[in-house]
Amino acid sequence: MPATMEALVVLEPNRFEIQDVPVPVPGPGEVLARVRAVSICGTDAHIVRGDYPGFWPPAFPFIPGHEWAGEIVELGSGAEKYGWTIGDRVAGTSHDACGVCQKCVEGRYNLCENYGRPGLHKQYGHSVQGADAEYVVQGVKTIFALPAALSFDEGAVIDPASIALHVANRGNVTPGDTVAITGAGAIGLLGGDAARIRGASRVILIERNPGRLAKAAEMGFETVDSGSGDPVATVREMTGGFGVDVVLECAGVPVTVQWALAMLRRGGRCAAVGIPTQGVEIAMQRLVLDELELVGSRATAGEMRRVMPLVEQGRMRVRDVMTHRFALADYPQALATFNDPGSGAIKIIVAP
Ligand SMILES: [Zn+2]
Ligand SMILES: [Zn+2]
Repeated sequence: MPATMEALVVLEPNRFEIQDVPVPVPGPGEVLARVRAVSICGTDAHIVRGDYPGFWPPAFPFIPGHEWAGEIVELGSGAEKYGWTIGDRVAGTSHDACGVCQKCVEGRYNLCENYGRPGLHKQYGHSVQGADAEYVVQGVKTIFALPAALSFDEGAVIDPASIALHVANRGNVTPGDTVAITGAGAIGLLGGDAARIRGASRVILIERNPGRLAKAAEMGFETVDSGSGDPVATVREMTGGFGVDVVLECAGVPVTVQWALAMLRRGGRCAAVGIPTQGVEIAMQRLVLDELELVGSRATAGEMRRVMPLVEQGRMRVRDVMTHRFALADYPQALATFNDPGSGAIKIIVAP
């Protein structure tokens, strides 16, 4: 094992470089993995910009990255008890929860009540060092065996695919439902696949970026261009005036949350995974009188293993949302491409 590795180090908001840093050492219940592919997430761009001061990350310098795949190169003590051996191919996720609090024992470890408490909870690439590096240390609760049929690049998109499945689960999509999705980014597009997996009869993607609208259409979804005309009126028109059974809110902008609620059928349900940075005014009268439901959806809670066979079967089309690939040394170019709305970027894979 080399003593040092290349890593993306964010020194302070908007200032980062590739540095040689020590290879981390796995502790009890942890593994050291050679990262083969890591995908850029919207959260990474926020972390680099310093949008969550003192929270994600708690302090700079910081190594982000949490959607990755690679192979195990070293086992911390006890990791072998869970069946792991050196050379195993794995896909990683971010929430390393306590496993003991009430939410964890209910299986909702994404809501761990010990979130961020040192020694009890970690979120890789958010509250502790992430995978934008040649090597990463993660706990055994956050790594999942990657099937031989899936490449490392596909493995790096299992975490967002599991988040897309989680939001469709939170939306309780039922066979025959008409589902609308606000935002045709990676979660929105994979959320469309997740809605179909749960039996949706129609999936309508609402987006204004022309490249993303074209991608949604190419993947076989109905599309509504929110840049021209009122998307709520259009969706109502497309559904005989009734509205949709479920909306998956994947854009995270106040107005898209308002659209989402306004385009629901009576008794409909909106599951929100986008995180607006400001408050949103909600039409409460309609929510009460039409018995609308609005639920949050955070990360993933048990969907990592469940989503992998769906990727293998081509029903969760992670390949279709991968648009670019860069070496870790070219991270500045990779991030600039990710942040450029005209680039056509959806999922960008970085290879350390
Ligand atoms: Zn992510
Ligand atoms: Zn917990």
